[in-house]
This record gives sequence, C-alpha cells and structure tokens, in this order.
Amino acid sequence: MSITLGTPWSESATRVLLLGSGELGKEVAIALTRLGVEVTAVDRYEGAPAQQVAHNAMVIDMLDPVAVKEAIRASRAQVVVPEIEAIATGALAELEAAGEVRVVPTARTTQLTMDREGIRRLAAEELGLPTSAYRFASCLEEVQAAVEAVGLPAVIKPVMSSSGKGQSVVRTAQDVAGAWEYAQSGARTGGRGEVSRVIVEGFVDFDYEITLLTVRSRAADGGTVTSVCAPIGHRQVDGDYVESWQPHPMNDAALERAKEVATAITGALGGWGVFGVELFVKGEQVIFSEVSPRPHDTGLVTLATQRFSEFELHARAILGLPVDTSLVSPGASAVLKSPGEGVASFTGVEAAVADPRVELRLFGKPTATPGRRLGVVAARAGSVAEARELVARTAAGIGIELS
Ligand code: AMP
Repeated sequence: MSITLGTPWSESATRVLLLGSGELGKEVAIALTRLGVEVTAVDRYEGAPAQQVAHNAMVIDMLDPVAVKEAIRASRAQVVVPEIEAIATGALAELEAAGEVRVVPTARTTQLTMDREGIRRLAAEELGLPTSAYRFASCLEEVQAAVEAVGLPAVIKPVMSSSGKGQSVVRTAQDVAGAWEYAQSGARTGGRGEVSRVIVEGFVDFDYEITLLTVRSRAADGGTVTSVCAPIGHRQVDGDYVESWQPHPMNDAALERAKEVATAITGALGGWGVFGVELFVKGEQVIFSEVSPRPHDTGLVTLATQRFSEFELHARAILGLPVDTSLVSPGASAVLKSPGEGVASFTGVEAAVADPRVELRLFGKPTATPGRRLGVVAARAGSVAEARELVARTAAGIGIELS
C-alpha cells in the first residue's frame, strides 16, 4: 500500500473531519493542513479554535447521532478524528461498520473511552493491569458502600467527565454526600435531570504521575508499530493540568513497566494515532489511571521538546505515515488561564516571544470564562528545572485583559 495525499477542495482531496475543535484540535488541524489535507472542524459553537484554521467549519450538537452522520457525509471525509469524548459514538460505529469512514483510532475505542467505566474494566478486568481499587455507583447508598469497599481516602468522579470536573477527594464518611452531589453537578449529563454514574477510586499515594504519549502507526511492512515518547511529568490543580515537563526522570524498571502498560492498553484499543496514557508511579510500581485516544493536554510541552509535536505525530499516524518520537531537548509548558469573563486581549507578548527557546500559543477562544485555558507557553532549555522556571516566568509576564 502506498499513501496518496490529494489537494484540498478538489476531487482528489484527502478529507479529515475533526469532531471537537478546541486547542488540541487546532494544532492537529494545522499539522494536517501542512500535509495538504482538507480539514473540516466541527464544534457545538461557532469560532472554536480549530475552526479558525480549518478549510471548512460546521456547528452541530455532537451528541446527536443524526447530526453527526449528516456532518460526516456532508464533509465527504474519509477519516473522522474525535477530539472530545462527548460525541454520539454509536453513529461513528455505524458509519465505520458500513465502510463509509475510518474513525481514529477506531469507533470501538471512542465508545470504550467515552466513559470511565469502559476503559477501566478493559484495563483492570480484561488486561489485568494494576489500577486503583474501584467501584461504580449510581446513587448515594451505592457510593457509601463503594467508599467502604475501596477505603478512605477515596476519589469520586463522574464516569462522564474529564479535566477534574465534578471530581473530589473524600477523606471522611461525612464528605461522601457532598462529593456525590458535586459529581452530579460536574458530569456531562449535568443539568439534564439524569443521574450520573460515578467511579469511586481508592486514593493512590503516588510518588509522581506521568503521561506516556504512545503512537500506533503504520510500519514499513504495512503492519502497526508502537512508539513511546519520553515521559511527561505534570502538576494538576483541581484535576486540571497547569504545568508539564519532559522528560520526567524515572528509574529504568519503572520506565520499562510504564512502556509495557502503555503498549498493552493501546494494543487492546487498536488503530493508528496518538494515545495519552496516564500513569501513577510509586517506586517501581506503575498504576494505570486512564487513556485518551488522542493527543493529551499535558503533551502541549512537545511543541517545544520533540522532533515532531504530539499533534504532528497524530497527523502522520492518522495518514499512515511513519513517525519519529525522538526528544530534541528537555522542556516545560505552563498554561494561561482566564482570570474572569469576557473577550481576552494579551499584553507582554513581545517579551515572551523574544526568547528563542519559547513557543507561545494563544488559542483564540471567542469567549473567556474564569479558569478557562486560553493559551500555553512551552519552552526548551538545558534542563527540566530551567525550562520550568522559564515557562513560569514567561507565563507570569503575559497579561490577560478582558472586555
Ligand atoms: P483524572 O480526571 O482521572 O485524570 O484525574 C485528574 C487528576 O486527579 C489526576 O491526574 C490525579 O492527579 C488525581 N487523581 C485522580 N484519580 C486519583 C486517585 N485514584 N488517587 C490519587 N489521585 C488521583
């Protein structure tokens, strides 16, 4: 098989539809357009970051299977790339089964990773990978029983949520009811009157946590090869990433084990593309947390550190092209979060970009809300410590004004 790439807006076009058009999708769209791919960017609101750089844009309710099918057919995409979890994955499975499109990495994977239950059961029960103790619960009584089973402290998370939304740590039995209520407010089904199922996890007292970006791509013989990027360390505040760095120092045994876990879970999911495998590490013990079948937010650091960023790697893997996951330099990233509500303007940009080691991305989100991620500073440096200091200082020098 040889890979042929066409010309956008022509009969020969290689067409990709992005479902979700946030900042990660924007970088994927840029990487794809550099290879002459015609990109259609879909989101539920107009002017989303990836829509600002794609050839075509559509606004639909991505949880509506009819709307998703119509959008895919109207775009004439050969490949569908989900950027978020909350989509009508049944529609993707239907079109993939009918041979109409290829879903990245596979439709089944988007179904399994849509909620925390599918992926946790696959990892722990089918593959036997180490995870935190866990139970699922759909009402307060079940949550109380689950907390008793996994022990305190415990972490309660809606099964349909990401980036720490609706997630809390329970330290005493008195906290349980509040955590259940909070999970209901933060789940993706929140506000629609549906009860949201939660996962109750035993708290893992890890030494550190990493993201292992793992790429499944086409091998020279037409099969699939798995490549693993250098480990990314990160710091989370309220379950949301604020800072990441690469490489995170690891002892050889833990790194080997982490690669085995990443290869096992991504192999079970299948398909081509980048996966963000989230792991907790304690000594030489590696505990699987979760996996995103797409570039990961903590991987924004790769804009400064790798030969190919995670977005370029995703684009290449999706298209069946070879990848190279080599690290070029240690580096770090720090996010720019909105201090309030309005339309953002950024000051101090000239000083930020004057340093040749710095990569700045302003996402262009049409509206800012408190805590919303509006940009990122990534930088390479002689060491991770130096890079972390550089991105922290650079990010602090950028002002965000809201009007
Ligand atoms: P998640 O949304 O599952 O990625 O969780 C967000 C963050 O919360 C993780 O990156 C961890 O820092 C923390 N966390 C999640 N689950 C656990 C756990 N079982 N034990 C300790 N910390 C956790």
